[in-house]
Amino acid sequence: MESIEIRTKSRVELVDITKDVKKIVNKSGVKNGLAVVYTKHTTTAIIVNENEGGLKRDIISTLEKIVPSNGSYAHNAIDNNADAHIRAVLLGNSAVIPVFNSKLCLGTWQSVFLVELDGPRKRTVYVTVI
Ligand code: ZN
Repeated sequence: MESIEIRTKSRVELVDITKDVKKIVNKSGVKNGLAVVYTKHTTTAIIVNENEGGLKRDIISTLEKIVPSNGSYAHNAIDNNADAHIRAVLLGNSAVIPVFNSKLCLGTWQSVFLVELDGPRKRTVYVTVI
């Protein structure tokens, strides 16, 4: 297992980590297998989608519509970040990507993102290639 350290810059942000994941896959020497990209934080998520500026803004604004940051949440009594936890639950905390002929099996428009939901903070993403 390897890790990627990320310093996020905003409260909600999509950080493209595709290059870092590819580097770890190369280093692993695995020819055919799986790359598991995982975050152990409760207010981040891992997604695979297109790295296009407008779409990234749309994803963030849709999260705001589905789980409003100014909503009324029980968890806010202790931590004031319930929206971030709930958004993380909806997006998921890992992605499994096939490795085929020593390459990460991503489509032309697919990138791997860490989704920061309660930044800015220092985050760690774990990548296991098997
Ligand atoms: Zn919390």
